[in-house]
Amino acid sequence: MIDFGIKEALQLLGVSSINKGTSTGTQWYQGGSEIISHSPVDGALIAKVTTTTPQEYDKVIATAQEAFVSWRMLPAPKRGEIVRQFGEKLRKYKEPLGKLVSYEMGKSYQEGLGEVQEMIDICDFAVGLSRQLHGLTMHSERPGHRMYEQYHPLGIVGIISAFNFPVAVWSWNTALAWICGDVCVWKPSEKTPLCGIACQNIIAEVIKDNNLPEGISCLINGDYQVGEWMTNDNRVPLISATGSTRMGKTVAQAVAARLGKSLLELGGNNAIIVTPSADIKMTVIGAVFGAVGTAGQRCTSTRRLIIHESIYDQVKEALVAAYGQLRIGNPLDQNNHVGPLIDTAAVGMYETALNKVVEEGGKLLVEGGLLTGEGYESGCYVKPAIAEAENHFQIVQHETFAPILYLLKYSGELENAIELQNGVVQGLSSAIMTTNLREAERFLSHGGSDCGIANVNIGTSGAEIGGAFGGEKETGGGRESGSDAWKIYMRRQTNTINYTADLPLAQGIKFDL
Ligand code: NAD
Repeated sequence: MIDFGIKEALQLLGVSSINKGTSTGTQWYQGGSEIISHSPVDGALIAKVTTTTPQEYDKVIATAQEAFVSWRMLPAPKRGEIVRQFGEKLRKYKEPLGKLVSYEMGKSYQEGLGEVQEMIDICDFAVGLSRQLHGLTMHSERPGHRMYEQYHPLGIVGIISAFNFPVAVWSWNTALAWICGDVCVWKPSEKTPLCGIACQNIIAEVIKDNNLPEGISCLINGDYQVGEWMTNDNRVPLISATGSTRMGKTVAQAVAARLGKSLLELGGNNAIIVTPSADIKMTVIGAVFGAVGTAGQRCTSTRRLIIHESIYDQVKEALVAAYGQLRIGNPLDQNNHVGPLIDTAAVGMYETALNKVVEEGGKLLVEGGLLTGEGYESGCYVKPAIAEAENHFQIVQHETFAPILYLLKYSGELENAIELQNGVVQGLSSAIMTTNLREAERFLSHGGSDCGIANVNIGTSGAEIGGAFGGEKETGGGRESGSDAWKIYMRRQTNTINYTADLPLAQGIKFDL
């Protein structure tokens, strides 16, 4: 049963019961087999999407190549004006799109709206950036010469995205890529294809309003094989891939084999260090939101709490009490804190992880388990769990995309906690709860956290678009969104201009004829 105004939202977004899944902008292609999108909220079949055929893929890439030739010649601030209009459309469609994100992916309606807000924010950021895209100037060693560098567009940016941020990740990439003069081909997750259709319909309005050519914003659909067409394709100079580390390792090798560029945003295993001086109330709020928000399906979800032994029992008791108050259920009902996992396969991985932590010697403080009965018919709702564990456990080292929080104890100095925090293969987000300035600075120093994101007195999740987002080690090293992340979408060119009648060579070399 589809309720909560989802039908109206789908209608507003132009999503029908069977959707063509391949588009070059305003034009859509028939496609092959169908992906069926079921909602994890209530198990209902929402709609179907046809997958891209190899012939259609070729047509899409050829159209994108053609569009690039004219799009790159449009002055960047004019491209920014297109992105500004896109941001306006997103404001108009914020509620229905937020609702679809919630219903197709399973995050709360508030988080769905928050995701669309992120899209709006990155558009605003990109509009300002379209008047910048700065290069440096430098002094030449040769008299009467000028040297500077400039950034030029790359061409086609292939975007492969994960299910858990089904719309925002696309816009982080596209808004920047477009103002940089690139054109985009997006393959959304096969678990959330309708979000892709809705976004494409929104940008198609802007393309139509401005009479822009087909090929600037393209959509393809299918599983990993359709993604592989792009990663192996020389016509796609940059692949921006968001998803599991397993996927990233395959994508990185395919792209490197053809010496393409890749931007990888992969798995995390994020920890909060809780020091003796921590504000316990803030710690509990930050840790619970970080661990159970989006049902633990954020790349920045809090997976490990590293607590000093002197306050360990106090924090543990406060957490267990807080978990007792969590309401689990339909994410479109704003009274609930925790929604479903994406599908029953994810539930299986959650159950395996809980068994494993006990097998390895851990102890469950808050038992998890699958919820059944009224309101839980989709089979995707699980109870958030807390386990006492040790950092070296195999399961603790692994990112389980579910609401499982591991409590780890440290004793002695902060260095011991930092060693545990850094002692995993992933390096995305990290945080410290402390009121001690020395500890905070030590954690942020070059001897501290080895992650791409390091926070003080806030949790691990919930980044703002103004900063560069991404992580180190097996998180892939890529950076998206704010700061100078735009540079990956461009190629750098160094220019030297001689404004004299002589031709002096660099390094004093003489070449007389
Ligand atoms: P996934 O790796 O299963 O799939 C992600 C995307 O990659 C999908 O579109 C899929 O079709 C595609 N894909 C898979 N194998 C591929 C291949 N060999 N070649 C080309 N494309 C391929 O990930 P998921 O389950 O959708 O998402 C969850 C994962 O994503 C978690 O590990 C999470 O931490 C990570 N994630 C990371 C970030 C970040 O910014 N670091 C953000 C969101 C999600």
